[in-house]
Formats: sequence, C-alpha cells, structure tokens
Amino acid sequence: MFDSELLFSGAFKNLKGNIIRELYKYTTQPGFISFAGGNPSPQTFPNEILADLSAEVLRNNGVSCLQYGVSNGQMPLRQYVAETMTAEQVPTAVENVVITSGSQQTLDLLAKAVINPGDRILVESPTYVAALKIFSIYGAEVVAVESDDEGIIPQALKEELEKGPVKLIYLIPNFQNPTGITLSLERRKEIMDIVQHYNVIVIEDDPYGKLRYSGEAVPHLKTMDPQGQVVYMGSFSKIIAPGLRVAYAVCDEKIAQKLVLGKQNNDMHTPSLTQLIVYEYCKRGYLEPHIQECCKLYTQKRDTMLNMLDKYFPKEMHWIKPDGGLFLWSKLPEGYSAMKLLDYALPAKVAYVPGDSFFADESGINTMRLNFSTATEEDMEKGLKLLGEQIENYLRDSK
Ligand code: PMP
Repeated sequence: MFDSELLFSGAFKNLKGNIIRELYKYTTQPGFISFAGGNPSPQTFPNEILADLSAEVLRNNGVSCLQYGVSNGQMPLRQYVAETMTAEQVPTAVENVVITSGSQQTLDLLAKAVINPGDRILVESPTYVAALKIFSIYGAEVVAVESDDEGIIPQALKEELEKGPVKLIYLIPNFQNPTGITLSLERRKEIMDIVQHYNVIVIEDDPYGKLRYSGEAVPHLKTMDPQGQVVYMGSFSKIIAPGLRVAYAVCDEKIAQKLVLGKQNNDMHTPSLTQLIVYEYCKRGYLEPHIQECCKLYTQKRDTMLNMLDKYFPKEMHWIKPDGGLFLWSKLPEGYSAMKLLDYALPAKVAYVPGDSFFADESGINTMRLNFSTATEEDMEKGLKLLGEQIENYLRDSK
C-alpha cells in the first residue's frame, strides 16, 4: 500500500546523488588514491586552538551560545565581516551582512527567494555542481554561458541577457570550482558594465578567494556594484574548517532581509557556538597567519601536481594552471570521455571527477577535475603516474 516513490515531489524524484559522493565507495578502499574530493586538507585544521576557544566561549557566553539566537547571525561576527569587507573596498554595514550555515545555504536561500519555475539563470560553463542542482530543484531553466580558458565570456553573457529576463547570474570569479580559473580585472569590469543595464542579481561565490598561491589579488565584483546587484558569498569553510558551517552573505539590505526570512523558516539561525568560535578566532588574530600557512602548504601541493602532470601525463593532455583554490582542470583530446577513462582508472585505484557533471548543457565529456589539497606528495606522484599510464592505455585502446 505505502509507496514513498509516489509521494516525492517532481524535483526530488529526479534528483540524483552527485558523482563525487558516488565515487566515495571506491575512494574509501585501502590503497586508493583519490583526486576526486573537494575537501580542504585536514592537516590545516586548527584543532587545538578551536578546542580552547570552544571551552572558553561556552564558559563565558554559555547562555547566548545555547539559547535560540537571532536569524541574521551573531552581532560581533557580522561586525567583523562588515569591517573586513569594507577593508576590501566593499563599504559594508552590519545590515548588509547575514551569517549562514555555509555558502551552500546562502545559495539555497537566495534561489528559494527569487526563483519561480521556468525563470532563467545564467551560469559559467562549467560551474559548481551543487549550484546547478539547487537551481534546478527550484525549477529554474539553467543556461550555460559560453566560457573559455579565461572564464565566462562577457559578450556571450550579454547575448544571453538580451534574449529575455534573467533572475540570477552565478559566478565564481576566484579559482573557480571546477576549473581553477580566475576572472581577469578586465572581464570583471566588462561584466559589471553589462549587468548594470539589466534587472538581475549577480551571485559572487568566493569560498576560495583567500587561498591565492601566485599572481595579484583581483578586486571583487562587489567593488564595482553601484546599484547593489551583487550578492557576495564568503565562507570560513576553506580557511578554517567546513564542519563549523559558518559563512556569510554581503548584499543590499532588501536582499539581506529576504535571506533572513528564509533562515527564520529554515534552520532559524546558524549555531551560535560555531559563530562565536569563528569570531574569537578572527578577533584574536589567528586567521591571517593561518591563511598564510594554508597557502604555503597548498602552493607546494599545487606545484607538485603541476610537476607530476608534466612528468606523467601524455602530451595529448591539456591542463590549466590555477593561481589558487583546490582544483586543477584537465582535458583529454576532443572525442574522448573522462567517464570512460574511469573504467581504466578505478581498477588501478586512482580517481578524479569526470567533468561533464559540472556542465549545465551536458557537454565537457573529455574534461576532468583534479583536487590537489588532500593527497600527500608521495601519493600524488604515485597516483598521477598511475593515472598517466591509464590515460595512455585508454587513448591507445580507443584508436
Ligand atoms: N561554492 C563553491 C564554489 C564551493 O566549491 C563550495 C564547497 N565545495 C561551496 C560553495 C559551499 O561551501 P560551504 O562549506 O561554505 O557551504
């Protein structure tokens, strides 16, 4: 009689788990080397400091951590975010800041607040897979805008905007997930010049922005936003620890109020305990040196990966050097499939993410994402040697 399948919403009936989670059943086997995950290195987690701060915060602020709290977030943390954003040339008042339980929640709340089924949303091609899923859960028509090795192409964005109303443009300007690409200042300016002529919200998702290993910092899109169209999304996940679930949105007050309404009806508020731990961590000056340490470690890992690719990947492969973040994007020659390559790689106990799932239009069959933050240097050499051999086997077998 009871059949839950008949009860699920249309959106959830068709919702599939993402490939990264599905690969877990392989990558957790002993001896497996995985470049598939997207996690920061656990080596970077400041366990001891966080343990001390947790105890202190609980002792000193017991009631405010353990009682229900305000939906927009703990005031000291909102003030801290407002000050740091202002220092980054985005004049910000506390009214512009909403603390969320991860940027993933910011995305979900924003999508819920603006999308009616059928609304058009423009995204880079490829883009963050969870964003694609969130937008489609709310019934959006997600349009992939033509992008190249330098990111989204402003003229192509303009052409899509000309075709009809668009609610959201979703961009990851720094060290993009999955490509690692950073949008140049010129493209950022061009994009902001274009979007100000349209009634559209731009999401600037920036979880990796502070993890830069080479090149110069580029100003946020939000610094070029006279009308308040940009919702800037920051997160402490990659620079302290993702398990804390503390992130923030910086945006126009009217949009902030809608996000807060969304939170009231969702998780009520981000846990006050983790908000205050993050606040104390930042206020006491731990964050900046910690970020420098993370950058040191990740620079080494990125460089090792680049060296190993030079050494072990066949000459037919192409890849893009990232200036920061956690990912490197690589391509097989046209006509080959990174999904098929898994049939060779998984038995050899090495994994990556086939890139097609990051594309809204199901292209990118020959692409793959390699994560460089978690494998040890030794595993990186071993794993990329194995992967290089399997690519050679696959290319040879497919001739
Ligand atoms: N946006 C992008 C581009 C990401 O890569 C991630 C995490 N992998 C998120 C958002 C979500 O981050 P958070 O932990 O803050 O929810």
